[in-house]
Amino acid sequence: MTLRPTDSSSLLIDGKLVPGSGGTFDVINPATEEVLGAAADATSADMDAAIAAARRAFDDTTWSRDHAFRARCLRQLRDALLAHIEEFREITIAEVGAPRFFTSGPQLEGPVADLGYFAGLADSYSWAQDLGVSTTMGIKSHRRVLKEAVGVVGAITPWNFPHQINFAKLGPALAAGNTVVLKPAPDTPWCAALVGTLIAQETDFPPGVVNIVTSSDHALGAQLSTDPRVDLVSFTGSTATGKAVMTAAAQTLKKVFLELGGKSAFIVLDDADLAGACGMAAFTVSTHAGQGCALTTRLLVPREKYDEAVEATAKALRGLPAGDPNEPGTICGPIISARQRERVEAYLRLAVEEGGTIVVGGGRPSNHERGFFIEPTLVSGLDNSARVAREEIFGPVLVIIPHDGDDDAIRIANDSPYGLSGSVWGTDPARVQHVVEGVRTGTLGVNGGIWYAADAPFGGYKQSGIGREMGVAGFEEYLETKLVAEPAS
Ligand code: NAD
Repeated sequence: MTLRPTDSSSLLIDGKLVPGSGGTFDVINPATEEVLGAAADATSADMDAAIAAARRAFDDTTWSRDHAFRARCLRQLRDALLAHIEEFREITIAEVGAPRFFTSGPQLEGPVADLGYFAGLADSYSWAQDLGVSTTMGIKSHRRVLKEAVGVVGAITPWNFPHQINFAKLGPALAAGNTVVLKPAPDTPWCAALVGTLIAQETDFPPGVVNIVTSSDHALGAQLSTDPRVDLVSFTGSTATGKAVMTAAAQTLKKVFLELGGKSAFIVLDDADLAGACGMAAFTVSTHAGQGCALTTRLLVPREKYDEAVEATAKALRGLPAGDPNEPGTICGPIISARQRERVEAYLRLAVEEGGTIVVGGGRPSNHERGFFIEPTLVSGLDNSARVAREEIFGPVLVIIPHDGDDDAIRIANDSPYGLSGSVWGTDPARVQHVVEGVRTGTLGVNGGIWYAADAPFGGYKQSGIGREMGVAGFEEYLETKLVAEPAS
C-alpha cells in the first residue's frame, strides 16, 4: 500500500479513520512557507469519543493482560513504518523542517527502531516478583508483587521531534498494557496522523487501544489533563504548559509524566581541546535550528581562553549556515513557524539590550526570501544572570560565558531553573568525573559521548521535568504496582 495525502487528514478513533468534526487545518512547510495540505481538525467531541474508546479498550478487552500480543502488534507497527520509511522521511523533512541527515537518527529511523526495544520489554519484563513469606502479628503470608498497566494514557507531544517523542510515549505505554490517546502538536499533525493510518490498515491493534487526535486547538490537550477517564498524562513540551498540565491533572490526581524545557551547559575545562570542543558546541546548537530541549545552549569556557573560544566558536558557526533541510549537508534547517521565529528574534534583540554582542548570525539569512530561517548565532559579553542565558530560546542561539575553574563551571551550569542535559569536555578523568558528579541534570555527554538510545533513560532534574522516558525506567513510568498476600503455612 502507498500512503496517500488524504491519509494524513484522518483521526484514528476506536479503530476507525474518521474526519475531524472541526473540518481541517493547514499544514505549513517551514522551509518554504507553502501549504503542504490539510490535517483533520478534531473538536472536543472527537476527543471525548477517543477517550471513551481508550477507556473501553482498557476495561473490556484482554489487551492489558496479553503481553505477547502487545509485543506482536508493536513489531507489526515498526515493520509497517519501515516499509514506508521513505514516505515518512519526505513528510518529516517537509512538515517538521528536519534536516535530512537527522532522519537517519533521532528524527525518524532511531525512534522507529526503538519500537522493537519496547516490544522486547513486553516479552521479557518480570511482570510478577515473589517477595517470599513474612510474618505479621503471628500470621504467615506469602507475598507477590504484580506489575500492571496504569490504564488510559493521555499523550501530549510537541513539534520538534515528533516521531521520537510520539514513539517514546506510544512504545512503552502500549508495551506496558495501557491504551493511549495521542494528541500531537498542531504544527506537525501529519507525522502522527500517518502512524494512525498504518495502525488502522496494517496492524492488529484492537479498536480503541491507540487513538490519534490531531487538532488546531491546544484545549484538547487540556481536556486530556482534566478528564477523569484518563489515568496518566504523559506530556512533552514547554515548562509553562507542563505546569498547566500538572495543575489540571491534580483535580483528578492523575499520574503525570513531564518532559520539559532546558538551558543546558556545554562545559569546557582548561585542559580540553578548545577548538574541538567549541566546534562541537557550535554544531550542537545549530542542529535542527536549536529546536531541541536537550541541546546545549550555554557554552562555558575558561576565562583566560575566552577570546580564543569566541573566535573558534564563531568560525565553526560560520560554516553551519541555515539552509534547505532537503539538502543532505544541511545541519541548521528552519524554525517551525513564523511565531516561533519571532520569539527567537525577540531574544536576539534582548541579547543586545542586555549588553551582549552578536559575534556571528543574529537574524534571518539574506539568501532565503521564504522559510522561517535564523542564522546560527553566538552571543558574547554576558554572564549567567542575563535572561538570554537563563531562558529557553529554542533557536540556534549560543551564549558563551567565562568560568573561573571546574567548581565555578559547575556552579554556573547549575545556576538555572532547568536541569535537562549537558556536556563536559576535558582530558583529566578525575576532574571530568568531579564535574559529572556536580552537574544537576538528567543526561550528560562526556567528550562527545552520545546518550540517546532506546535503553537510555532520558529526562530532567528541577523544572525540566518529572520522570524518565526510554529505557526500563521509561517503561516503568507506565506501570502500577500491586501487592498480593495469601496465607502461607
Ligand atoms: P508547548 O508546551 O506549547 O506544546 C506542547 C503540546 O502541549 C502541544 O501538543 C500543545 O498543543 C499542547 N498544549 C498546549 N497547551 C496545553 C494545555 N494547556 N494543556 C495541555 N496541553 C497543551 O510546546 P511546543 O511549543 O510544542 O514545544 C516546544 C517546547 O517543548 C520547548 O519548551 C521544549 O524545550 C519542549 N520540549 C521538551 C522535550 C523534553 O523531552 N524535555 C522535548 C521536546 C520539546
